[in-house]
Order: sequence, then C-alpha cells, then structure tokens
Amino acid sequence: METDTVIVGNGPSAMILSYILHGHLPFYSENPPHPDPLLDAKLKDAPNLLNADVDALTAHFAASRLSYSTQALPVNVLLDTLVRPSVDVDETGTTSNVEWRHVPEKAVSHLVFGKPSYPGGQWTEDPHGASWDIQTLSYAAMLSLPGYSFADHHRKATGQELPPYTRPTRREIADYFGAYPVAVHIDDVFRCGEELEGISRTADGFYIQSHNIHCKRLVLASGIFSELLPPAPILQPILQTQSRPETSLLVIGSGFSAADAIISAPPDQQILHIFKWSPADRPSPLRSCHQRAYPEYAGVYRLMKRAALAADATKDQPPKSRRSTSTPFLENRKWDDVYEGICNVEITGVEVVDDLAQVSFRRADGSTLTRSVRGLVYAAGRRGTLGYLDSKLQSEVLGHELVDTAITGQTLRAKATEDLQVTPGVHIIGSLTGDSLVRFAYGGCVSTAGHLLGDRDTDREARSMASSIVSTRPQSSSLAVMNGMDGHHIYPNTGSDLTREDTFNKVSTMTIPAAAQSWWKTLAQMWKDLTQ
Ligand SMILES: Cc1cc2nc3c(=O)[nH]c(=O)nc-3n(C[C@H](O)[C@H](O)[C@H](O)COP(=O)(O)OP(=O)(O)OC[C@H]3O[C@@H](n4cnc5c(N)ncnc54)[C@H](O)[C@@H]3O)c2cc1C
Repeated sequence: METDTVIVGNGPSAMILSYILHGHLPFYSENPPHPDPLLDAKLKDAPNLLNADVDALTAHFAASRLSYSTQALPVNVLLDTLVRPSVDVDETGTTSNVEWRHVPEKAVSHLVFGKPSYPGGQWTEDPHGASWDIQTLSYAAMLSLPGYSFADHHRKATGQELPPYTRPTRREIADYFGAYPVAVHIDDVFRCGEELEGISRTADGFYIQSHNIHCKRLVLASGIFSELLPPAPILQPILQTQSRPETSLLVIGSGFSAADAIISAPPDQQILHIFKWSPADRPSPLRSCHQRAYPEYAGVYRLMKRAALAADATKDQPPKSRRSTSTPFLENRKWDDVYEGICNVEITGVEVVDDLAQVSFRRADGSTLTRSVRGLVYAAGRRGTLGYLDSKLQSEVLGHELVDTAITGQTLRAKATEDLQVTPGVHIIGSLTGDSLVRFAYGGCVSTAGHLLGDRDTDREARSMASSIVSTRPQSSSLAVMNGMDGHHIYPNTGSDLTREDTFNKVSTMTIPAAAQSWWKTLAQMWKDLTQ
C-alpha cells in the first residue's frame, strides 16, 4: 500500500494535523481583531497561517504588554493565542482569531495509526488504574480540537451548555476525543488498535514493515507518555499481591499519577505513600497546584508535606507552628487513619508470604522500618519511545547514535526549536516536541501541515539559515520545557521555578483585568501561605 504521509500515534496532535490535512486550512480572522494590535496589523495582510512567518510575527512578544509564554515554542505560542485570544476572560474559548476554511482540493492523502483502540492517544490509556472520573488539569477550552470543541460535544451529548471553567473528567475527554474524527469527518484515515513497527528509510520515502506500507513523509506523534517506567526488580513480587482496603496499598511516586492513584483509591483503603521530598531542588509538580483550582492535587501535596514535616520533627526539632487550613478534600476522608506518607527512604527488602508483602525501608540516617502492604502502584514516571523506527532512522531523528531509547520532553526539544522537520521527511508534533499541553499542539501541527501541503518552502537549508538570522530569542526561553506532567521536566533550564501556575496562566494573551489581578494577588498570597 502507498500513501503520501503516515502519522504515528492517534492522540490530540495527530487529530489536529489530520483535520488540516483533510483540507481545513487555518486563516487569521480579524473580526474581532486580536487583542494584540501589533499582531493584528502583521496578520491582516498575510492571513494564511500555513505559511506564517513565525519569527516576524512573534518578534515583539517578549516586549508586549500582553503576557505571552516564554516557555513554549514560538509557533505554539502564536497559534495558541490566535485560537484562544481571550482565554482568561472568555474561558469557553468561543472567540477565536482562526477561521478554518475547507478547501478539499488541498487535502493530502494520509493515514493515522494508533496503538489505542480508540482515537485519543494517551487519554484512552490508563496505566495506573486511576479513576476515569479524575478531572483534567486543563479547562475544557484548552483541550478542544478544531471544528468540534469540547463544548460542542457536551451540548450534543447532554443537550446542555457547558458551564464556564469546567475541568472535564478524563472519561469525558476520552469520549470527546473518541467521537472527534467522526464529528469532523476525518475518521476515514484512522487505523486504531494498530501499532507500527520496523519503519525504515527508502530511496524515496519510508517503508513500514509491520503494515507493508510505503509513504513519502512521516509524522511522529507518538508522545512521551506511552511507556511506564517499570518498578525495580526488588518490588516485582508486590505486584502479585491483591490490594484490600484493610492493608496498605503501596503507592510510589511524587507526581500526578501517584496523586491520581491516591485520589482514586476507595475511601477506606489504607495507603502507604513513598515519595521523594526535596522542595528546594526538586519539588513535586503537585506543589504548583493551587487548592482552589486543583483541590485534590493540592490536598495530596499537603498530606505529603505534613508527612515530611512530621518526619523532620521526630528527627531533630518540633514542626513550626503553622496555620493549617483544612479543605473539603482533606475533610472528605479520614486521611489521618488511612494515609501514611514516608519520604526519602530506600527500599531494602521485600518478602511475600500468603499474599502479604513485608517491605523494609532505610532512612537517610540509617534507621530502618518495616510495613505490611498488598498491591503496588509504581508511578515514578512515563516516557515515550522511538523503538518503532529502525536504529538507523532513530539515530537520524535523534541526531546521534542511540544510547537510551526512553524519550522525554527534553529529548527532541533542541531539534524542535530549530525545525520540526527533524530529519528530511520526518516531522514531530505534539508532546514529542517538548510542549506537552494540547493547547500548544496547534502550532506544530499548523507548521508541519504547511510543509506537507506545500505552502512552505521545503528547503531545509534555506529555512535553518533564515531562522539563524532572525531568531534573536534568548536560548533559555525557547529551550526550556513547559509543564509538569509525570515524566516531564517542569523546571526550565534557567533553574528558575516554573510552576504549574506558570504553565496554565503565563500564556494569557490579555492584560489581566483589575478584578482578576486582585484575584491573582489573593491566590499568590494563598500560594505563599501554602508553601512557606
Ligand atoms: C496523566 C496525564 C494527564 C495529562 N493532563 C493534561 C491536561 O489536563 N491538559 C493537557 O493539555 N495535557 C495533559 N497531558 C499531556 C498530554 O501530553 C497531552 O494531553 C496529549 O495527550 C499529547 O498528545 P500527543 O498527540 O502528543 O500524543 P499522546 O496523547 O501522548 O498519544 C500518542 C499515542 O501514540 C501511540 N503510539 C506510540 N507509538 C506508536 C506506534 N509505534 N504505533 C502506533 N501508535 C503508537 C501511543 O500509545 C499513544 O497512545 C496529560 C498527560 C498525562 C500523562
């Protein structure tokens, strides 16, 4: 079989790209004008976003009175602000400066392959057994795809308007992504439940051994969350034990997946939570979750902090007296009875007898302790892999010989900053680029589609020369990686503290109105209280 382009992965970025490759072309829509008058002026006469001159359009962003992200790739910041220009004051995202014009004759033949049985990529997978009713980190508008928003889906499914500031559940987003290809009529190219393997370069394109397919161009949208980091061999026997409420479930990890496991456990489930605690140099990503926006994650962070402080107190000094405000999350379970947190310990032994594991730990000071557990959630991170490419093509994509097959948001970041076509004919989109949020997937998809549809100059040399001439952006701003999903660095290379709140709010394109400013002040103060 032959096709022009194959997309590996069926997550949100693959869906956005497929939508464009079906001939839905993005144009700047100046009614109403974008709140940034300079950007509006630059785009008025050159509205075709497929061949947008990103450097010229974003050159003023750093000095703008609007608060543009300095962490995401410029093309991603550009499309994000155009797709959702007023997201801070109009969270529903109904106003957009992007008009999708259907030009079917521009369509590019392509196929989308995804391991999961339904479209949606990692959203359809649940490796940690977390509840499907856990709310997403993003608001609905920031998870919406072009042509059929989450609000449209909600209206269709329930007959009701979506309330503002909705954080949908994982189940609702999985349903939405699952329904999206049919809703926008792009389902003809989706091949779900199919894993591509053995992809190699040929004289005029690529060959996919697992499916006997030839294609001219390849788009990698396989993400950075497909592989779970496996527990160390010493922990393996615990996986054979069955969790029961009255015996502690062992949860290992300090990020969102560990928190998800704790939140999802039955209310009477005993939990033993083992985590790293090093707020000064490697704080948990949960630290950035404010209790109003993310009460459950902030609640788990509090439990961890309490446990860490209590451990300190027993070591040398009593805990500082502090104002301890409770929250509905902390009150909805008898956490003191069901949760035990232990930080910075090494696991030295595991012995399983009759479906009960005795686990021995050693603290940094050499003291030891033992606990009985049943069941294990090992949530120490997720990675991607390019193992579906043959080793020659992997080395080409990575730009060096293969040493480590685990792919994080950092792995291809420097290459993505230079060019999303990481080697001739191979493009990367989505979280592989290092910007893992759905809102930031648009830019990479539009830019890649520009090349695939032939709207851009495809001469790599000319493009990289151009980017070296015009790019005056400090390296740190574009190399730093956004956001704090598990397995994803959340701290920019500058060493400054990029918090979850940066992730979700620095990307505002509006000057913050007075009311919101005071709201933010309050939040900032509460944040200080929480972390002091
Ligand atoms: C727990 C968690 C919560 C998150 N919450 C949010 C949130 O609230 N908001 C937000 O914006 N982002 C969130 N993210 C970030 C997430 O990266 C994005 O939402 C989004 O899923 C990225 O999309 P993607 O297109 O890069 O690919 P992914 O969604 O990662 O999907 C890629 C798919 O490709 C498949 N694949 C890999 N190799 C192959 C192969 N050889 N053949 C076929 N298929 C293959 C993988 O199995 C995977 O299903 C979260 C991530 C995690 C892990």
